[in-house]
Amino acid sequence: MSNSPLVCYTKLSPNHSNGRNHKIDRITPHYMAGNCTIETCGEIFAPVSRQASSNYGIGSDGRIGMYVEEHNRPWTSGSAANDNRAVTIECANLGDGSLTSACWNSLVSLCADICRRNDIPSLSYTGDTRGNLTMHKWFQSTDCPGPWLSHEFERLAREVNAMLSGGVVPDVRPANNTHGGKLEVDGVGGYNTVLDMQHALATYEDGTLSGQWIGNQCYIWGFTVVEYGAEGSPMVKALQRELGIGIDGLWGCETSGALQTMLVKCGYDVGSCGVDGYFGSDSVKALQRYLNDGGDFHCRL
Ligand SMILES: [Zn+2]
Repeated sequence: MSNSPLVCYTKLSPNHSNGRNHKIDRITPHYMAGNCTIETCGEIFAPVSRQASSNYGIGSDGRIGMYVEEHNRPWTSGSAANDNRAVTIECANLGDGSLTSACWNSLVSLCADICRRNDIPSLSYTGDTRGNLTMHKWFQSTDCPGPWLSHEFERLAREVNAMLSGGVVPDVRPANNTHGGKLEVDGVGGYNTVLDMQHALATYEDGTLSGQWIGNQCYIWGFTVVEYGAEGSPMVKALQRELGIGIDGLWGCETSGALQTMLVKCGYDVGSCGVDGYFGSDSVKALQRYLNDGGDFHCRL
């Protein structure tokens, strides 16, 4: 039994039962009913008096925290029968109950990772406990996971299963620019942003950040078109060559930090977190402005 390599932050909660009486064969996504960071969620689950926890939590920035190791039963869904067999995930939500795209993408990736490591062949949402994707509100008087996420369980199963079968999760958002025109500076590293990067770096143009190591996900959370594998991306190799760092085609903390440093040197603000190795929406906005200004990644500073 292992834990997810996607975790960026761990604060183990005393609120759990040691071990489980059932193999892990379900996933129960919850919503926080608030927009907490993974650190705040860890603080909430820390006191024994709270008597609540979850295995994982995901913030609106897409970062993933762990509070109860998978081999232990979390206290999340108001049902011993469910939580003995489920991995539970608390998701931060906005005021209307919706998840940011970064949070959603991490939820899909985390669910796929849980399935792979626990030999769950696929997720199925049936609207009741016959399926392996279950809701808190079926076991307790609560509206968790909220109207928005409740409505998206079917899509969650579909996107996780696509990822499990090796397919690319489609970027369902509308195109944020027209290639050759200007990118919309929206902080979403989608198809067109990656396409413009590939064009600027003179590598194969498919709008996908391919062959990336899944453990690096938190460092590239601003991108929605990541395809996992082990072989690396030709575009990332070209980028690393320009940045003067090790060339392996895998975009992780070092590549994010080096690109952020280059953007800042060139006068593009990467947001209040500065150069932190996490390429999130503020860094993507800086990148989009840089590309719109004709940036070609030849750093002449
Ligand atoms: Zn819940």
